[in-house]
Amino acid sequence: MQLKTILNRVQKFNSFVYGAVRWVEGASVPTLEVELHPRVNSRPVCSGCARKRPGYDHLPVRRFECIPLWGHKVFFVYAPRRVQCGGCGVRVERMPWVDGKHQLTETYSWFLAGWAKRLSWKEVAEAFHTTWDHVFCSVERAVTWGRAHQDLSGVQAIGVDEIAWQRGHRYLTLVYQIDRHCKRLLWVGEKRTVKTLLRFFRWFGKDRSQALGFVCSDMWKPYVKVLAKKAGHALHILDRFHIMTHLSKAIDEVRAQETKELKAKGYEPLLTKTRWLLLKRPENLTDKQGTKLSELLQYNLKSIRSYLLKEEFQLFWAYTSPYWAGRFLDTWCTKTLRSKIAPMKQVARMLRRHQPLLLNWFWAKKQFSSGIVEGFNTKAKLTTRKAYGFRTYQAAEIALYHTLGALPVPETTHEFF
Ligand SMILES: [Zn+2]
Repeated sequence: MQLKTILNRVQKFNSFVYGAVRWVEGASVPTLEVELHPRVNSRPVCSGCARKRPGYDHLPVRRFECIPLWGHKVFFVYAPRRVQCGGCGVRVERMPWVDGKHQLTETYSWFLAGWAKRLSWKEVAEAFHTTWDHVFCSVERAVTWGRAHQDLSGVQAIGVDEIAWQRGHRYLTLVYQIDRHCKRLLWVGEKRTVKTLLRFFRWFGKDRSQALGFVCSDMWKPYVKVLAKKAGHALHILDRFHIMTHLSKAIDEVRAQETKELKAKGYEPLLTKTRWLLLKRPENLTDKQGTKLSELLQYNLKSIRSYLLKEEFQLFWAYTSPYWAGRFLDTWCTKTLRSKIAPMKQVARMLRRHQPLLLNWFWAKKQFSSGIVEGFNTKAKLTTRKAYGFRTYQAAEIALYHTLGALPVPETTHEFF
């Protein structure tokens, strides 16, 4: 079987035919060159308007790198024609195997980008005897294509998070979709300011923002502010502050009710002036408040039991594993639902209702922290000091989209993996 036969099987072009195949003498890596020729009587296609146009002249021979075969580099060799186009003027013809001025064929570019999801960029470059720049460029093209073709419909829940990078001096804002059916990185922005997140919403669009049902973020003020402004209709969950506010309100309610009951039964006003005792974190209490609190803890009051439940709930935020956070939440909710304290039970029911979403947050956080660490390790391994110039942020952004964006790839590339 000839190499031409194989090529025609894997990658056939209608208006071009494969010509001679030869070894390149003296190449550092075994290299094959495959000639390409226009099919006889075929007319070139203008790269500007994609119409068939009369030929104008030939440009010098160009080499286009393709997917390697058995460790051999393979190049297409072709002298592009120029066309005389009524609309576009004199233009280079369109060549179906390459996009614009790139040296790598489309399929090779997708091939490298595909491997770059599994291996570090440096490893990909080494494995296929190519350069880090070519891998970077391929990933960048894949990300650009994927972002232009991704389906953004049906996004209901988003989470906003920030990560420190470059040893904590700078931040990135990450917005990800955290719906049950789809979890992915949607957007990366430099810094973590109001402006950063506003840029996300501008990119995301008004209609899609209106359709959001849930937004998650931590308490970072600029985020909270922008989310309230741009997605105020959506339920803001797992803003820790927000959920603790629900608990505090419940305690307030319990205390007010219980004070009334105690008064009606003629007990001394045990609970008067205890509001802040029950709402503050224990470490923020004054000595006097602390003494009073330990006194109160001796009574089996609903207010006190609510207070203890709230304090216990603080542990929830310390979890990193979605699984254990889920177990904790389950136990806490069961216990609270058995407490016979109506306002607290209400909060527990609300948390239970949103449990999957709450846990998505932990899932997303975990995914990101590991993704980021990997990204940074990879970057540290494969970029030289020189590459740490203007390109750093761009490379980080592209790496993040590539590994976490769940971006689509063209149908035809599937067959190469
Ligand atoms: Zn044209």
